[in-house]
Amino acid sequence: MYTVERRYLKTTNWVCTKYSNTRLRCPARCVTSCAGSSNSIKLSRRHHNHQAKGSKL
Ligand SMILES: [Zn+2]
Repeated sequence: MYTVERRYLKTTNWVCTKYSNTRLRCPARCVTSCAGSSNSIKLSRRHHNHQAKGSKL
C-alpha cells in the first residue's frame, strides 16, 4: 500500500499509493530504517483517509 517517496542513506520514506490520487491525497506515510542489523518501521500519526482493502498495513 506504500510507495517509495524518497530514499536516504539509512532510511526510506514511504507514502500511501493513494497519495498520488488527486481526489484522496492520502496523507498516510511511514519511514523504514535499516540501521545495523535490525530493520524498524515507524508509522506516521496520519491515517488513511480511505478504506484499505486487502492491505496488510
Ligand atoms: Zn492511504
